[in-house]
Amino acid sequence: MSDACLQIAGLLRSEKTFLVLTHFRPDGDAIGSQLALALLLRDLGKQVEAWNDDDVPAKFHFLPHANLIRKPPAEPKDFDVVISVDASTWARVGTAAQKIKSRKHFVNIDHHISNDKFGEINWIVPEAPASGQIAYDLIQRGGFTLTRDIATCLFAAISTDTGSFSFPNTTAESLRVAADLIEAGVDVGDLSRRVYESYPYARVQLLQMTLADLKLVDAGRVAYFWVTKDMLEESGAKREDTEGLIDYARSIEGVLVAVLFEELDEPNKVRISLRSKHPKVDVNSIARHFGGGGHKEAAGARITGESHEVEQRVIAAVAATLKTAGL
Ligand code: 5GP
Ligand code: MN
Repeated sequence: MSDACLQIAGLLRSEKTFLVLTHFRPDGDAIGSQLALALLLRDLGKQVEAWNDDDVPAKFHFLPHANLIRKPPAEPKDFDVVISVDASTWARVGTAAQKIKSRKHFVNIDHHISNDKFGEINWIVPEAPASGQIAYDLIQRGGFTLTRDIATCLFAAISTDTGSFSFPNTTAESLRVAADLIEAGVDVGDLSRRVYESYPYARVQLLQMTLADLKLVDAGRVAYFWVTKDMLEESGAKREDTEGLIDYARSIEGVLVAVLFEELDEPNKVRISLRSKHPKVDVNSIARHFGGGGHKEAAGARITGESHEVEQRVIAAVAATLKTAGL
């Protein structure tokens, strides 16, 4: 057992009050891992809180006790242990950081290769396809009980970060873990229907608008499109509905890199999502160039600048990366 795993398991047993955090704009791995750890701590009889600046996306409301995840409180609070999961930098947890009056221990559990090890105990496993798989290891190797509720959260985490066990980050171990989670009681059909087949109609309308303007450049090897504020307003879709849209661009034959640009509410702020389909193209390094991070195959950043200018800079950086990779 890694030292960090052992140390964290010890804290879970010995300490009393816990705060579990993840990144803002949470995805399935963030919510699933955060909730699984919170439920584990509750089962251990601990006092536990879980905060996020953003709401739990509607498609994850069905996860057991999803209402445990609350907004950070107005007044700072004391905790024995603060655990961050699936956040590559401390800034990514948002305003929660300012609401911690004191903590004895500071734990950082993550699978991003770009994680900057901001905790005091850092358990970073870049080989893990999802933070949920690290949380599973903690439960198994720590000798804790894997309940059906926890298993459901972990399955949602691993399923979403591996693209339903289809992305190159999917390993034999992920499938073994998934098998174990199913044995612990996960209803895979029900979970998949809720996560992948329960989108609001407004998201489909947003999808139509974004795809209508999709661009293919660099001899069809780069696909990109925009989610603008106008499109969100016109479709009635929420910010959370943009998750997964990029998969339509990446799924085009011949595309090596897909980029989604999203206009944020703050003027001159653009969020980018990057996906690579080629083992020689590392989009994490492109994201880092723009102040963001992530994984080799999936990364993102928030960039300051006028939309058109940001688009040009990013597409130029992608083209340069393809060239450097000899593609
Ligand atoms: P997505 O494109 O789905 O938002 O994110 C893809 C991956 O990149 C995720 O693992 C996510 O954590 C990471 N990522 C996305 N945006 C940012 C960002 O602004 N900063 C950093 N450091 N990582 C990001
Ligand atoms: Mn993740």
